[in-house]
Amino acid sequence: MDYRYLGTSGLKITEITYGNWLTHGSQVENDVATSCVKAALDAGISTFDTADAYANGAAEEVLGSALKTQRRESLEVFTKVYWPVGPKGPNDTGLSRKHIMEGINGSLRRLQMDYVDLYQAHRYDHETPLEETIQAFADVVRSGKALYIGVSEWSAQQLRDGQALARQAGFSIISNQPQYSALYRVIEAEVVPASKELGISQVVWSPMAQGVLSGKYLPGQPAPEGSRATDEKGGKSTISRFMDDGVLTAVQKLKPIADELGLKMSQLAIAWVLQNENVSTALVGASRPEQVAENVKASGVKIPAEAMSAIDAALGESVEKNPALTVSPETRVA
Ligand code: NDP
Repeated sequence: MDYRYLGTSGLKITEITYGNWLTHGSQVENDVATSCVKAALDAGISTFDTADAYANGAAEEVLGSALKTQRRESLEVFTKVYWPVGPKGPNDTGLSRKHIMEGINGSLRRLQMDYVDLYQAHRYDHETPLEETIQAFADVVRSGKALYIGVSEWSAQQLRDGQALARQAGFSIISNQPQYSALYRVIEAEVVPASKELGISQVVWSPMAQGVLSGKYLPGQPAPEGSRATDEKGGKSTISRFMDDGVLTAVQKLKPIADELGLKMSQLAIAWVLQNENVSTALVGASRPEQVAENVKASGVKIPAEAMSAIDAALGESVEKNPALTVSPETRVA
């Protein structure tokens, strides 16, 4: 497993991170969740991503229990704050000082840890002054409860504004966590160039387009039993953007390209995001330990330029590139 630096910081993370959105505390039972974490550790993954809002705190609890016996110094643990948690009252959401301070304490309690390596603003909060958010993050870092600060789905301008204030407050934003895959490239035009200027790198989510780029969903056919597209607790609706026969037909054209390179389609999808030098890690999910073992083989793969062009030709019009799709809700959700 190869390591990369996170932004311009000195923190090294595995270029494949195991993330537990939709799975832990929800789609899969706790014993399967624990075996996925074990498979990740066995495969050399030391970086894990979660959020307070995943399964309303249960995902952090499951991850914390699964990692409890590990040497803390050998792990990099990321969590996030913004989306509503607990009883979802008016102050249980957003990036106010109150919610950030309560949020970090709640996350550490559920994870059974003294600190997280990266604390991320899960979205941009249009209702809280940015100065208040950044000052609260500065205080979280000074308290030692988080070592570094990142954000998720911020636009280029929001990254610029946030970084300027962070530097005045004595720290730097080192990462941004956007959706990025061969099918969803909206960060390439604006967010990536701004990030490079600012010393920020990308921690990218859904590199497999939630499983679609593994090729297991076939056009005109029902989704495989037990897959995310059949998960009524949330997966089915979140994956629906890609469950279109035109997209699924284009994805099947990637199979010969993967075969030619001796890769599974899932590995090709993960390796594809890692070809972007501004990407520090691919955040990969898994509902079974066998998937983790398969996916980690994408680390270190170099995709030749001709194959990258063949991927573009195969996916054609199915690729989403509109930079305006990097948006955070105008009003906090409660
Ligand atoms: P992926 O695109 O990696 O999709 C993972 C899902 O695909 C798995 O749960 C599994 O679903 C399926 N899958 C995984 N491996 C294989 C395989 N080898 N063959 C076939 N199917 C496979 O990423 P996610 O959408 O899960 O997101 C990854 C992480 O990103 C999250 O856990 C979270 O940490 C982060 N994230 C962050 C967000 C943000 O707003 N910041 C938003 C969303 C995610 P199944 O078996 O059920 O079909």
